[in-house]
Amino acid sequence: MPRFTKILMSEQFRTYYLIFGAIFLTLHFFTNASAQEIEAKIQIHEENPSIAKVSGRFPNLQRGRNLSFARSFAGFSGLGERIRNLKLYNANGKEIGYQTVEGEYVSDAPFASWSYSVDLSPRKEPSAAAHISWIANGNGLLMFGDLLPRLSAGRKASGQVTITLPPGWRQLENRVDGTVVSDDIFSEVASVGTDVRYRMVHAGGTAISLCVVGNWLFTSDEITSFAQSIYAKTSETFGAPAAKEVYLNVFKFPQNVPRGQWQAETRGRSITIISSDMAFQTQSLQRLHEQLRHEIFHLWIPNAVNLSGNYDWFYEGFALYSSLKLAVAQNRIRFEDFLDTLSRAHAIDTRQMNRISLIETSRTRWSSNETQLYARGMFLAFICDIAMLNSSKTKRSINDLLREIYSKHKFPAARTDGTGAVLSIMKAQPELVPIIDKYISGSREFEVDTELDLAGLELSNALGVKQKLNRKQKDLLNSMGYNNWRRLSPGPIR
Ligand SMILES: [Zn+2]
Repeated sequence: MPRFTKILMSEQFRTYYLIFGAIFLTLHFFTNASAQEIEAKIQIHEENPSIAKVSGRFPNLQRGRNLSFARSFAGFSGLGERIRNLKLYNANGKEIGYQTVEGEYVSDAPFASWSYSVDLSPRKEPSAAAHISWIANGNGLLMFGDLLPRLSAGRKASGQVTITLPPGWRQLENRVDGTVVSDDIFSEVASVGTDVRYRMVHAGGTAISLCVVGNWLFTSDEITSFAQSIYAKTSETFGAPAAKEVYLNVFKFPQNVPRGQWQAETRGRSITIISSDMAFQTQSLQRLHEQLRHEIFHLWIPNAVNLSGNYDWFYEGFALYSSLKLAVAQNRIRFEDFLDTLSRAHAIDTRQMNRISLIETSRTRWSSNETQLYARGMFLAFICDIAMLNSSKTKRSINDLLREIYSKHKFPAARTDGTGAVLSIMKAQPELVPIIDKYISGSREFEVDTELDLAGLELSNALGVKQKLNRKQKDLLNSMGYNNWRRLSPGPIR
């Protein structure tokens, strides 16, 4: 530790140590050379747990002058305003001056380390709790993407973050000494608090850690068994697991909110569900299953593929549709419910006043078009599924598309534009080409009587199964799960 000793000996440091006692710990912590791009420490103090103290450095960055923080995320702005008391230090631990504008800092001389505090009081919008770090009532979620300074906008970085907590607070037990080490440190989410319950299960070679807070109408066992079976099924769909370790945080809203509300996000290998219960246990269970089906899909796409740009026109709709198919396959919903949901999506798309293409909808997702994006995307995935099942005599489905996208573009594949990559894989299926032209690149209203007829379906007010079905239509319907549901009641259609 020669560097540390030298600093400790210097008069200058002693003066600063008296003023900025925290630096001592920081420097001690960072004496070992590291392969990580970012090293940091997050401290929560008992006196005021909603103010986190963060200190750290970029070990490989020489002569850095810029420090910047995420200013907005998932439509929530003003994040830079939570950063307070920022201090920059040179290699001798001497404080350096800087200029600042809205979460961007430019130092007067190269800096070696930094420290600041972040106000983690929950935002007034309850839905922010699934997306932005917060601590309230002795529990909270630390989302490193909005707690740590960034290297350059949107870039992945490896890192090591140590979390220290007040007495009686807990964090995940399988993390050694409260340290999170990750290849994608900005995507990590750590649940901390006095009431967090932890549990771990395995599914297809992946360890799933559950972190749950609060009393629910369902048990922790029910959450882990849902997560286990959905993760295993989704692994089959994609042909490989999404990650070695997956984290599932199930928290209540930090504010009082009415029953039935929820918000979820899947970031990196962490799923966060912020929710309130439903009126009845069966409804709460049903909704939990639905949330998990959708969010678990995202562990693969977009989180485990190296695709860039706004291509949520693809993965949101396909996540919804795949989740719906899985619900039928696992007998969580009836085939009639499957058709009902698709009918509603179709109706939303039909009501769209200013028609824009699905790709265009992606660009304005957080401002106004989220419902359209989901509805049009889901119905589109359904039409693609029928087209693929039909042209392959039910041998191929959208699962084959998903598997191909995942196997071609999963990390460490080279970074590629998401829309281009997905369209090129889709266009390799000739039956999908007209669908892409009309509904993905184009803004046409769905005119899909022909496609629906292939599956023995018709659309008047809502989607329904035709009275008379030929062999091919029966096969296609069965491959979408019609038979699966019937198996429980009057028997499969023949
Ligand atoms: Zn989604």
